[in-house]
Amino acid sequence: MDAPIIALAARVKEIKASPTLAVDAKAKALKAEGADVLNFSVGEPDFDTPPHVCEAGKAAIDQGFTRYTPVPGILPLREAVCERLATDHGWQYRPDQIQVSCGGKHGLYNMAQALFGPGDEVLVPAPYWVSYPPIVQLAGATPVIVPLDEKSDFDLDPAVLQQYAGPKTRGIILNSPSNPTGSVLSAGALEAIAQMALAQGWVVISDDIYDTIVYGAAKLPHILDVDPRLQQQTLILNGVSKSFAMTGWRIGYTAGPKHIIAAMNKIQSQSTSNPSSVAQKAALAALTGSQDFPITMRDAFVPRLDFMIKALTAIPGVTCVRPRGAFYVFPNLSAYYGRETPGGKEINDSVALADYLLEEALLATVPGVAFGADQFIRFSFATSMAILAEGMRRLAQALAVLK
Ligand code: PMP
Ligand code: GLU
Repeated sequence: MDAPIIALAARVKEIKASPTLAVDAKAKALKAEGADVLNFSVGEPDFDTPPHVCEAGKAAIDQGFTRYTPVPGILPLREAVCERLATDHGWQYRPDQIQVSCGGKHGLYNMAQALFGPGDEVLVPAPYWVSYPPIVQLAGATPVIVPLDEKSDFDLDPAVLQQYAGPKTRGIILNSPSNPTGSVLSAGALEAIAQMALAQGWVVISDDIYDTIVYGAAKLPHILDVDPRLQQQTLILNGVSKSFAMTGWRIGYTAGPKHIIAAMNKIQSQSTSNPSSVAQKAALAALTGSQDFPITMRDAFVPRLDFMIKALTAIPGVTCVRPRGAFYVFPNLSAYYGRETPGGKEINDSVALADYLLEEALLATVPGVAFGADQFIRFSFATSMAILAEGMRRLAQALAVLK
């Protein structure tokens, strides 16, 4: 084929398409061709959006609520976000400190565009969610990866953080509970991050998208609870994708200092204008109605989590930190690297292993390298117990035949 006439911008060459969405698309395509693929890849609740939320979306259409909305989102929705933050966490925000965006990912994108640029470094603890580094890079800044250790349940070690921080550090991205590990940051780690952020003037981005999916009774420690002064330099990211099984509606929100939200609104006004009017009404119903749904969903995940941990750690050589939240397990399968498939292919990394699992066991998973941790593979357990059981059977068998 001829070389294309139109060249692409340099920034596109720097990043890859989202690997989670790519594996999901591949699994769905194979399934459509009739293959019996079990999809453990994309992180999306297997629940339907609750009926009262869908009804609110339908009513919005019927009532003609189908025009542009204010750039930061409709006022009642921003008020509802403030109400949730106050009721659920005791944090005080005003509506002009809230931006509603087209999903949580878009909120992160707006933040990075508003805050970071060439020469800036942003600390990203790894394993990280796949989109953090590219979102930082798309703003022209540099993600600086801070390794977390499986042996300490992927908690952040302040001494390690110190090694990666420097004069160019502008901020840090926290995600507790984490995608992909399900781990949470300890009070001690948050205390240390808070001290560094206050001393150095870092912005703290706290991605709380999994904060309704927490296992165990205790309330999670949070950076904002460490020191109230941090509210001046923290951005809270959340949304309804995970909590209300609304991934396709595309509604996320950010709470933060007014001048940063105003800057993010400027960017949103020149890009998406506003999130979907209909989806905003549905999200309003989610945030103002009964809060039972996230609890029901979380409770349904508990036996699946128990099953996954038991099944994975029963496989020789496999270790797996028990998640404290979210709906992923992130087993370390590196004991199988250096072995060969029955077909003679060598398995040397997480991509080769994930490819083998997809091709030979029809198991769609996400290789750990996508999260900056090549010894691991991510499995989402937001799927039925029958699929989990069959999946773990196939995994054990596929690993057992490696030579
Ligand atoms: N943060 C994390 C850690 C995630 O896993 C996701 C994936 N859904 C998001 C943010 C963004 O969610 P969404 O854009 O679907 O609201
Ligand atoms: N956050 C989910 C995941 O990690 C959804 C896909 C995506 O947006 O990356 O699978």
